[in-house]
Amino acid sequence: MSALGDRISVHTGDITKLAVDAIVNAANSSLLGGGGVDGAIHRAAGPELEFECRTLNGCKTGDAKITKGYKLPARHIIHTVGPVWQGGGKGEAELLASCYRRSLELAVANDCRSVAFPAISTGVYRYPKDEATKVAATEVNDFIEQNALPETVVFCCFDEAMAELYRRILATLGEE
Ligand code: ADP
Repeated sequence: MSALGDRISVHTGDITKLAVDAIVNAANSSLLGGGGVDGAIHRAAGPELEFECRTLNGCKTGDAKITKGYKLPARHIIHTVGPVWQGGGKGEAELLASCYRRSLELAVANDCRSVAFPAISTGVYRYPKDEATKVAATEVNDFIEQNALPETVVFCCFDEAMAELYRRILATLGEE
């Protein structure tokens, strides 16, 4: 286990319940709500979230924007737009890595000490789960090594199979 081992953890459950400084939303480029984790976050945060999102003029794939958390226990929501999987030859890995990096940069800029990520792009955007968890874990690990904030990052999984993928890849990085 590396010295960084206590800064990254894996949690199975609903991300909207987590009392962290920021949760990350796997949004679509309109930022106006959708299905999956996006729908769950908008439902739990309440309608004021959409009002704020309407002022943001959308978000490009691989980029991120931040809002308040409204009714969530989390103070902020960082909305990022993952790539739709198109076979791997369309820059998907770099775009997915950029989602994690840009989200973490926004977390730092907003003094977030704790951040929780869902498994971006692994739902309706069909990114292969084992590949997506590799990108996520590598990117977060690299960022954490180079930055004091966020102090802790949670990979929040909806099911235990996904959590196991994260645990496996983190173990190879010397994390958990
Ligand atoms: P994308 O469009 O980026 O693929 P989805 O919302 O369809 O986004 O899925 C992203 C991941 O989030 C999937 O692994 C899905 O199981 C998971 N997920 C869905 N709802 C929640 C939730 N409430 N909390 C945490 N993870 C969730």
